[in-house]
Amino acid sequence: MEGSGSQRAPGGTPKGPAGGKPRCSFCGRASNETSAIVGGPEAWLKICNGCVYGARAARSDGPGKPRSCSFCGRKPKEVQWIYGGSMVAICDGCTQRSLDEMLI
Ligand SMILES: [Zn+2]
Ligand SMILES: [Zn+2]
Repeated sequence: MEGSGSQRAPGGTPKGPAGGKPRCSFCGRASNETSAIVGGPEAWLKICNGCVYGARAARSDGPGKPRSCSFCGRKPKEVQWIYGGSMVAICDGCTQRSLDEMLI
């Protein structure tokens, strides 16, 4: 049976691929595409579990240029290693902190 005419959708949720979901600054995945995502000091700065594990596994410069850590601002000389993405980078200390946050 159909035709009651009552729809459940209130229509309050905007549809769209980038509907304000937090995205990983390293790989661009949205929070619903990863199992965990944690934020940095800036609202736009986030890293997902995949990239944290990738950074930890690499323990060295990533595909991007060596640069200061986007999370704490330390320079490559001041940390053991910095994993650089195309736009952002994360150091060993911030990788560990992100891991701890994800495991809580
Ligand atoms: Zn990621
Ligand atoms: Zn850092």
